[in-house]
Amino acid sequence: MLRIGTWMAGQAKFCALYEKPYWRQAGLSGQAFSQQGPMGEIHDGSNNNQGPYGLTGFVNIPAVQRNHQQLLTEAILSQLAVIYGKPAAQPTTFYYKDWARERFTATQFDQPPMVEHPLYHPPAGQTSIWDGTIHFAGTETADQHGGYLEGALISAERAVMNYQETPKGHKI
Ligand SMILES: Cc1cc2nc3c(=O)[nH]c(=O)nc-3n(C[C@H](O)[C@H](O)[C@H](O)COP(=O)(O)OP(=O)(O)OC[C@H]3O[C@@H](n4cnc5c(N)ncnc54)[C@H](O)[C@@H]3O)c2cc1C
Repeated sequence: MLRIGTWMAGQAKFCALYEKPYWRQAGLSGQAFSQQGPMGEIHDGSNNNQGPYGLTGFVNIPAVQRNHQQLLTEAILSQLAVIYGKPAAQPTTFYYKDWARERFTATQFDQPPMVEHPLYHPPAGQTSIWDGTIHFAGTETADQHGGYLEGALISAERAVMNYQETPKGHKI
């Protein structure tokens, strides 16, 4: 199981908060895709009509190259200013999270960027072992939408259903 890549585990994300969603006043949605600068994908991550207001996105650089957070932060703010105008470079708060450095999220197998979305399935094709006393759940065991929140829900439902159907199962 440790060798199974976790979708998004090697990612880094940022969130820049602002007093107002000023890009909306300029008629911009806040969504951007870019092949220049560290961010590949940016979204309006605000609450709808109340704060906090912010832009959030994915850092499109492989984990092994994300060693200098200060330089990366400066490059992110510069890129935001190019896309959304100068105020974007001065957020009230800026969060940066490198998930590849979270030891309970990413393993060494998550460090190289995934080139495509993996097709997941339960370990060795089994949804349970030891006469149904252990059931596998979690998005990396889902055979649909594996790696996403939806896959986590699908696999959880499957595990609960299977558990209830085993002789030792209880209604839970
Ligand atoms: C950076 C990032 C961005 C993502 N973006 C999206 C997105 O935009 N859309 C989307 O659909 N999905 C996204 N995902 C994927 C989504 O977060 C996962 O698919 C989902 O959280 C998986 O749910 P899960 O219940 O299978 O596992 P988890 O949410 O990982 O839950 C497993 C839990 O088990 C706990 N645990 C682990 N080991 C033990 C142990 N030994 N004992 C007790 N507890 C243990 C962990 O602490 C954790 O709380 C993203 C993931 C990451 C990392």
